[in-house]
Amino acid sequence: MSYTEEVYDRVVAQNPNEPEFHQAVKEVLDSLKIVIDANEEKYRAASLLERLVEPERIISFRVPWVDDNGKVQVNKGYRVQFNSAIGPYKGGLRFHPSVNQGILKFLGFEQIFKNSLTGLPIGGGKGGSNFDPKGKSDREVMAFCQSFMTELSKYIGADEDVPAGDIGVGGREIGYLYGQYKRLTGLYEGVLTGKGLTWGGSLVRTQATGYGLVYILDAMLKDHNMELAGKTVVVSGSGNVAIYATEKAQQLGAKVVAMSDSNGYIYDPEGIKLDIVKDIKEVRRGRIKEYVQEVPSAVYTEGKGIWTIKCDIALPCATQNELNLDDAKALKANGCFAVAEGANMPSTREATDYILEQGMLFLPGKASNAGGVGTSALEMCQNSMRLSWTFEEVDEKLQQMMNNIYEKISDAAKRYGVEGNYVIGANIAGFEKVADAMLAQGIC
Ligand code: NDP
Repeated sequence: MSYTEEVYDRVVAQNPNEPEFHQAVKEVLDSLKIVIDANEEKYRAASLLERLVEPERIISFRVPWVDDNGKVQVNKGYRVQFNSAIGPYKGGLRFHPSVNQGILKFLGFEQIFKNSLTGLPIGGGKGGSNFDPKGKSDREVMAFCQSFMTELSKYIGADEDVPAGDIGVGGREIGYLYGQYKRLTGLYEGVLTGKGLTWGGSLVRTQATGYGLVYILDAMLKDHNMELAGKTVVVSGSGNVAIYATEKAQQLGAKVVAMSDSNGYIYDPEGIKLDIVKDIKEVRRGRIKEYVQEVPSAVYTEGKGIWTIKCDIALPCATQNELNLDDAKALKANGCFAVAEGANMPSTREATDYILEQGMLFLPGKASNAGGVGTSALEMCQNSMRLSWTFEEVDEKLQQMMNNIYEKISDAAKRYGVEGNYVIGANIAGFEKVADAMLAQGIC
């Protein structure tokens, strides 16, 4: 049995009931096999893989808060501090009823390689709660955030662990969390990213994941002698990543014809009117089906099915495992030639394998959505320097970062004889830097 298979079996045995974590580890280990086999003695001697798949620390805590009816509610809170070999733990907080330790471990594990790919000194972490902000009043969200931070504040810090937003955690939640951290510690420091512009936030952070996704997509298309202008694009989700991916794709001349939320999807053959989506999602916090009330020529369909819409390029930007094998087949049958992941692990393993076998272009999330965390790291830089860069400065750095990531993953794939396989390229390029740091720092 190979070293990677041994470690995978051990992960499954020692982490029962965490299928998403198993899936993420398997994908990474499978694609690292070429590198591991070539360096097996060195890595085995240091138990490098066994250490890599085990979080340095998991903090799990209770989050009690009082709802608007005066009833005490209790949620679960977590922070997974996965790997600090190349910098302080960095990764978002997710507030969603589906959150559990296994999902946060999968996200924290992916984050290690993604953060490494940005070229910036940030380690991997992730956290969150099974709290659902949907349908809660602002006061309830604040009460929850204050209670969550009361416990979390003991374990984070600007040079220690710097959380950010993720699903269910946007500007409002970051504000309440930051206010409570400051109140408890007395520190005005860059302990969270995604902050408001008047209190330490960075320009472009809101747009960064979506814009970054389109920048790296554009870099890949150019490398294959194509361009984004004139292409038809389907984007799933209608949250932060989906909205700004749509915005940048439209700016670069593509036509986005569909978006979705967890209830259903809209199809607008004329091209999505993003100001309407922004109003529904960012201002009214409504549902995507409300779009058709304002654009009667568009069609709303309840449920899944967005990937049956004909397009050239698919950008899954909602959540994990939202694009399965049947979806990938439908995309291919309709002429889609490129998939770039905005969400974390939105394609199932079977879907990814099929897409690659079919010779479609595929950018994995850990490379293509790294612009968000990369810009968060730029926010940390600005906080440390006590200054703010202009929109253009940050946007240019983001674009440069995404071009560099494309070059790194493309180069790693070539070096190991799998040209064009950006899944393997991303895992290898991300892993090499972390592995070097872990070996240099001894057994810890
Ligand atoms: P948001 O909460 O802003 O939006 C999430 C979107 O996905 C919403 O439209 C939501 O619909 C939809 N969605 C959530 N769960 C499901 C589901 N089970 N089925 C179908 N649709 C669903 O989150 P973000 O846009 O920030 O994040 C989206 C993805 O991108 C996540 O995988 C996240 O981890 C990843 N990501 C985000 C980054 C960021 O900077 N924000 C950085 C890197 C990755 P509804 O409103 O109905 O729930």
